[in-house]
Amino acid sequence: MRRARITLPFHSRLDLFVILKFMIENIAQSLKSFLPTQPPKIYKPIGCCIYCGKTENLSTEHVIPLGLGGKIKLPKSSCVKCSKITSAFEETCQRTMYGPLRLLYDLPSRRKKKRPKKLKLKVKRSHSDDWTYIDVDQEKYPFLILFPYFSMPKIHQTNPTLNGAKTKRLWIRGASPSYNFELLLAQLTNELKVYSIMPEAKTHVEEFCQMLAKIGYSFAVGELGFGSFTPFLIPHIINKEMNDSDKYIGSLDEDEKATENLHEISIINTNQNDFVTVRIRLLAKLGTPTYYVVVGIFNKG
Ligand SMILES: [Zn+2]
Repeated sequence: MRRARITLPFHSRLDLFVILKFMIENIAQSLKSFLPTQPPKIYKPIGCCIYCGKTENLSTEHVIPLGLGGKIKLPKSSCVKCSKITSAFEETCQRTMYGPLRLLYDLPSRRKKKRPKKLKLKVKRSHSDDWTYIDVDQEKYPFLILFPYFSMPKIHQTNPTLNGAKTKRLWIRGASPSYNFELLLAQLTNELKVYSIMPEAKTHVEEFCQMLAKIGYSFAVGELGFGSFTPFLIPHIINKEMNDSDKYIGSLDEDEKATENLHEISIINTNQNDFVTVRIRLLAKLGTPTYYVVVGIFNKG
């Protein structure tokens, strides 16, 4: 009995460590296989830039960014100048709002070599210390994923008050919904020998709205044909004129159920007398917000 009293706690601790280590390793595994892939789709080549009309040096537009696993392509649809602009805001979103997720799930990157191996984590070394940053392997990093909520597009309201690309509320998840985020934090606190960890993430709402506008617009061009509707969002996408973006870009206030899809994108009406509205749900499997983007109005005749 005496021996048991002395050795048991020691063994328990060992067991606990082994169990935690086992769980963490399995978490990393299960997360990588957690997200499904998007079925590929390639539209007919457009032959001019869908943003400015140029016809030289055209490249393929990924409707949903490649960095998010997007596989819907619009060939010969973006000129050098415009694709520089769209890549810039997409990269801003990828770096800050869902870049960590991309690292974790091993989604494709155009610049794989540039991926950081270590990431800065905000920690307190002891109760009385100030917050500081330490480098942590990206495999172990406690990621947060952010999506902004909006009101629904205000284009249907008479005399709406427009605020541009602003959010009052964020969808925030520790990656991922499939395991215990608290457990990961507890394990990391132990492993890094720190007192406390503060997971952090940034959001760029204007760039995110530009990206939604680009996704919606390029998808509608692929589905309906270039010239079949008068676009509303080119100034937003190319010149970042976002003062009235809430007229066209919005979200549901309530979350819909998570689905088995990586992303969801569809045109919600094809009534020729109406606006062209695209429903977008990025990373639907995580139970993210649903966005609505009014990309234009159907041309008559
Ligand atoms: Zn262009």
